[in-house]
Amino acid sequence: MPKQLPIDPNDMAKAYDPKLFEQPIYDWWESKGYFKPEIAGPKAEPFVISMPPPNVTGALHLGHAITASIEDLMIRYQRMHGKAALWVPGTDHAGIATQLQVERALRNEGTSREEIGREKFLERTWAWKEKYSGAIQQQHRRLGASCDWDRERFTMDEGLSRAVREAFVTLYERGLIYRGEYLINWSPGLQTAVSDLEVEYSEEEGRLYYFKYMLADSSPSEGKAGRGSEEYIAVATTRPETILGDTAVAVHPDDERYQHLVGRNVIVPILGRQIPVIADPYVDREFGSGALKITPGHDPNDFEIGRKHNLPIINVMNKDATMNQNAGPYQGMDRFECRQKLWADMEAAGLTLEVKPHRLQVPRSQRGGEVVEPLVSTQWFVKMRPLADKGLAAVANGDIKIIPERFTKIYNNWLENIRDWCISRQLWWGHRIPVWYCADCGGMTVARQDPTECVHCHSKSIEQDPDVLDTWFSSGLWPFSTLGWPDDTPDLRRYYPTSVMETGYDILFFWVARMIMSGLEYTGHVPFNTVYLHGLIRDEHGRKMSKTSGNVIDPLEVMDEYGTDALRFTLLTGSAPGNDMNLSMERIAANRNFCNKIWNATRFVVNNTGTAFQSGSGTWNLSGLSLPDRWILSRHNRLIAEVTRLMDEYNFGEAGRQLYDFFWSEFADWYIEIAKIRLYGADARAQATARRVLVYVLEHVLRLLHPFIPFVTEAAWQHLPHEGDSLMMTPWPTPSHTGLDEEAEAQMDLLIEMIRAIRNIRSEYNVEPAKKIAASIAAGANYELITKHQEIIIALARLEKDDFYVAAMLDQKPAQSVVEVISGGIEIYLPLAGMIDLEAERARWHKEVAQLEKRIAASKVKLSNPNFTQKAPAAVVEKEREQLADLELQASKIWERLKELG
Ligand SMILES: [Zn+2]
Repeated sequence: MPKQLPIDPNDMAKAYDPKLFEQPIYDWWESKGYFKPEIAGPKAEPFVISMPPPNVTGALHLGHAITASIEDLMIRYQRMHGKAALWVPGTDHAGIATQLQVERALRNEGTSREEIGREKFLERTWAWKEKYSGAIQQQHRRLGASCDWDRERFTMDEGLSRAVREAFVTLYERGLIYRGEYLINWSPGLQTAVSDLEVEYSEEEGRLYYFKYMLADSSPSEGKAGRGSEEYIAVATTRPETILGDTAVAVHPDDERYQHLVGRNVIVPILGRQIPVIADPYVDREFGSGALKITPGHDPNDFEIGRKHNLPIINVMNKDATMNQNAGPYQGMDRFECRQKLWADMEAAGLTLEVKPHRLQVPRSQRGGEVVEPLVSTQWFVKMRPLADKGLAAVANGDIKIIPERFTKIYNNWLENIRDWCISRQLWWGHRIPVWYCADCGGMTVARQDPTECVHCHSKSIEQDPDVLDTWFSSGLWPFSTLGWPDDTPDLRRYYPTSVMETGYDILFFWVARMIMSGLEYTGHVPFNTVYLHGLIRDEHGRKMSKTSGNVIDPLEVMDEYGTDALRFTLLTGSAPGNDMNLSMERIAANRNFCNKIWNATRFVVNNTGTAFQSGSGTWNLSGLSLPDRWILSRHNRLIAEVTRLMDEYNFGEAGRQLYDFFWSEFADWYIEIAKIRLYGADARAQATARRVLVYVLEHVLRLLHPFIPFVTEAAWQHLPHEGDSLMMTPWPTPSHTGLDEEAEAQMDLLIEMIRAIRNIRSEYNVEPAKKIAASIAAGANYELITKHQEIIIALARLEKDDFYVAAMLDQKPAQSVVEVISGGIEIYLPLAGMIDLEAERARWHKEVAQLEKRIAASKVKLSNPNFTQKAPAAVVEKEREQLADLELQASKIWERLKELG
């Protein structure tokens, strides 16, 4: 049953109160089925967005708010174009983030996941998910998000889990998944591999340790092979404990200092192992001593060099960051303790050179804050090169367009330099890797359905891999897994590929690129045709928002105080694609005022339209329209064309700003004020025309504004004469048949300029707002225009009707008047007598000019004194001259004023 809309069309509240309207309007829309694409009918062209799934236990922050605002704007805009608009919502299980929260809760209860075991732990996590997953949905509803909640998905749903299984097995069958040794970011505290995304580099004060790599023997040419040498290579490191895992020392092939040493061996301090000196152009000759120790087991760059030169990988650390048996005497020590002890031992052995302070980038775990250790480990990987090539082609051939375009270069650069993707995580919460190991034959069974026996030897002794998949593996399938893939569902057929992927530019690689590669690999189609990237939100001074800076703005608090529309409009008009935006509370407050302005203007129109008046549409009889009507209809037509163009170009911010300006200035401040003359007048026909234009333009502008500020526009629209039940289901307006009227626009511009000029003079002379003043106009060629519309000028400029005089040319220029000349050579004379107290004004100016004359005289004396002009610095003298000229100019202006005053 559809809910009731809490709006009485015959009783419009005096002020707009978001709290009274937002929730009931949202519930009403939803109950009417407007959020479902089916409402557009079976033949409608689909327009589909998959909502980037927020973390299941998350709370709404500004990043979500801007994402939801932009996507809802696109969805509402396309819905109004008659498209089958589908916005698929959902949440992400967020492996490590969620697991950590549950682990923290367990710790507070005095237990741990190891203690309660995997099964119990997963039960707890599911319960946690059930408890908190509703929050983010509720918060999206508050934002006005018109997504189809019946199609809401969760990355660990039964269906989506099947999609993950299918994807993994497919890749395995295609030879694109393998198990291998790899250097990963290991978090010793969390006991898991963490993705690059979860590592933050903090610049910290560290040390650079210089030490000696002793040559194992003299050069063969010296004939002293086999004997220890006094020769050494100086090497520098920031992490001495990794010396224990060194398997080479590398120098640049063109470095003359070391060329003769390449191919010889050096001795690893303390351990006494011999390792080769190799040449590699990767080495930076300028850094440190120009020689680099190579530790493939503990550094990602060294790992790559090691592969190239076939160096052995020696791992010296355990997974808890203590040293292992490869560390010799340091076995069992913590990594930092080992650093101290090893260096002391090397010092004692005379192998150290010096220690210098050094700023370095320390990789720290985003979650735990501890130093992440690069560690070699057996993990599952996806071979990315073939997938990346398809992803590159899809953008190169235009199947996918990235907005703003400059991000295409970044996308290409990432995919061209892609590394294999480590997809296994040592976590419990997530999609478990569908691989079973056989205890009898050692073979692996990779299966879509949980197997009961080994495929190789039929042994029942099989055990599933304990690890789970990286969260991005399942979110990479999001656009099609949410529509039913791998099954051939009606939704998948109708709504895939989706239309736009909208998200922050910071996850272009982590998420967007992976969706593109996954979509192409599994479905054979690009998952979306357009990628729209928005920027990050910063505070009003452009600083990143963070808890430590205390400048975080909570969108929920903003919505409580100012209403959802004010927040949405601020986010939507403050941003340009791909650019960061600075958010200030003043802007939000200003946009709350804009919403009130819309409400008040609508209320005025409603109260002056009467119930008898029904239709805002239909054709216009041009001869019945006044100049202001023709003008506002022409401006309205221009606005629709311009806003539509901007929306189609994804330039939402500019579209919103144009709507704001049009509504506030042209419609509310000018047209409504001008229309009042007819509304309050006696001419019934003129009254009817004004009403009709008011309703027509207002109703259309509410439609144009609806995707930006859905609540206030719907609430206001319900009070206007309208067709249909809801504003959100009305068609996007098109320009009226009246077209553009250049003449009317030019003429109105002139009238507006005139009124503004008079208003400016009034404020310059501090004339009371209510006071009516006299005016004489020398109109020249515009005599007819001005005479015909003098009522408007008299009303809006607050002129005395009986003291208003217009002529093509004035026989006699009015004395004691302020004169202003505007476009078209129109001269405006405002007699001062009625505006101000002439005597007081004269006295005031005389006093001011006397002061100026005094300063001028003093300045002249100074400048005629050779002691000053010759001895003071030239710049000082020059400044004095400029000051004098300025004072003289001010004085002459006042004399002019005094002349006007007579
Ligand atoms: Zn077996």
